[in-house]
Amino acid sequence: MARIPIDSTKVGNKKTFTVVLDAGHGGRDSGKYIAKTAEKDIALKVVKLLGKQLESHSHIKVVYTRTTDTFLELYQRADIANNAKADLFVSVHCNAAAATSAKGNETWVLGIHRNADNLEVVQRENSVILLEEDYKEKYVGFNPNDPSSFATNLMIQEEYLDNSIDMGSKVQEKFEKDLKRKNRGVKQAGFAVLRLSYMPSVLIETGFLTNTEERTYLKSEAGQKKVANAIYDAVLEYQKNQDINLFQVAALDTSSPAIAPAGNNARYRVQISAGSNKLPAESYNFHKLPEISRDQEGGIYRYFTGNFSSLQDAINLKAQAVSKGYTSAFIVVYENGQRRRL
Ligand SMILES: [Zn+2]
Repeated sequence: MARIPIDSTKVGNKKTFTVVLDAGHGGRDSGKYIAKTAEKDIALKVVKLLGKQLESHSHIKVVYTRTTDTFLELYQRADIANNAKADLFVSVHCNAAAATSAKGNETWVLGIHRNADNLEVVQRENSVILLEEDYKEKYVGFNPNDPSSFATNLMIQEEYLDNSIDMGSKVQEKFEKDLKRKNRGVKQAGFAVLRLSYMPSVLIETGFLTNTEERTYLKSEAGQKKVANAIYDAVLEYQKNQDINLFQVAALDTSSPAIAPAGNNARYRVQISAGSNKLPAESYNFHKLPEISRDQEGGIYRYFTGNFSSLQDAINLKAQAVSKGYTSAFIVVYENGQRRRL
């Protein structure tokens, strides 16, 4: 396939990139509250500093879920993002742990797999749901105190998972390199606020309020500025990548059909999932889909079903995967030692 050069004059000249900034908690929900430090206040300050920086770019539109100390239900935050047709949702939080030595930052993306380690964090951040009236109706079948309810609720769209992980990795990289924070990684869990928003979404735990050093840092204006700056750099880098990807796809689409079979030696698989969790590549972990395989690239694992020489077989299996809830499954082709998406 001919390589199409990227016209740099067109890159960066794209449509408006809308980012929703969500300061965690607010109002009667202070989030973590340690040594007179409320998570909701730090989150709001960081979000405002971050928003101000992003607003200086004419091609970036910033939408806030809150700019004051007000209580917002999780579904309202997601509604704001969905109504804005945002390209990216960034939720800012602070962590806490029983051990005061716990430190560093982590970024969460919506996960599809239950993981006992993650449940505690999820329950903490989702626990605001219990402060909401009629949460049972709003979050059908979603009881934040019942781990088993996650299984059914995580029948989710994964369309944005790769992008969310990409954004999460950038955030982690900036915190580690620029702020010298301990990198706790990109993690996956079933946060309601991420589950309800239909766009690439991340939830950033900027540091531990239970750790004296990190609390002091997060409370200080200088610390808040640095944290905002790190997220800002990650957003910009993510947005630039998106632009380039979109441009390449658009350029290629004009010259090649959407799905064309590859050469005779090609093998086809259906990608069903991606994330930082290493799971056994077993059918029982993936709704009994056949022939599960796993690839690793950096800290990201990709999971596939099937391995065919026939494109039609892959198309049929993709339909099956979609019917089992992997609605964003897509076909990848392996040819000459390379993997690419069809
Ligand atoms: Zn929080």
